Amino acid sequence: MKKGKLIVISGPSGVGKDTVVKELLKNNDNFELSISMTSREKRLNEQDKVDYYFVSKEKFEKEIENNNLLEWAKYNDNYYGTPKKEIEKRINNNINVFLVIEVVGGMNIKKMLKDDALLIFLLPPDFKELRNRIVNRNLDNEENINKRLKIAEEEIKVSKKYDYVVVNDDLNKTVKEIENIIKKELK
Ligand code: 5GP
Repeated sequence: MKKGKLIVISGPSGVGKDTVVKELLKNNDNFELSISMTSREKRLNEQDKVDYYFVSKEKFEKEIENNNLLEWAKYNDNYYGTPKKEIEKRINNNINVFLVIEVVGGMNIKKMLKDDALLIFLLPPDFKELRNRIVNRNLDNEENINKRLKIAEEEIKVSKKYDYVVVNDDLNKTVKEIENIIKKELK
C-alpha cells in the first residue's frame, strides 16, 4: 500500500506557519497535523494535547531516553520534539502528516527520510514585518522577542537547504502555492 509523506513546514517565529497549516488542513482530507511535545510553558491561549503535549523538562528527557521521539531540538532553552506515535500509524495508512518544526528538526527529518519528506520554508516579506507580527500577537516579552528575532536570522540561513521557500505575504496566495507544490510532489 502507498505510504503517506511527512511535510515539514518551518519558518521564523511569527511568520504565520500555524495559520497557513490550519488553512491547508481545512481544504485537504488526507492531511493531518502532528502535535509536538514541548517543555516550554503553556501560553494563555493554548491547550494541552491540542497545541502541544506540554510536559516537564524531566519528562521530555525521559521520552528522549526511551526513544519515543522521531526528532527533537532545543529552541530558546526549551525542548520541542515529534512523538513517533503521532506519525507511524498515519504514514502507514497513506495519510500525509504536517510537522510544524524548527530547522534543526527539519534537517534531521530530511536526513532520516530523504525523499519521503517534503520540506517547505516560509519566509516573511521582510524583517520589519516579522517584528511587527511577533509584537502584535502579544505573547512574548521584549527579551523573548529579541531572542526569537536573533534565532530567525539563523533559521533563514538554513532555508537554502529546504526543498521549497515560499514568501508568506498574502495568506490565500501562500496556501495556493503550497497546495500546488504538494500536488506536484506527491503525485
Ligand atoms: P513556539 O514556542 O513558538 O510554539 O515554537 C518555537 C519553535 O519550535 C517554532 O519554530 C516551532 O515550529 C518549533 N517546533 C514546534 N514543535 C516542534 C517539534 O516537534 N520539533 C522541532 N524540532 N521544533 C518544533
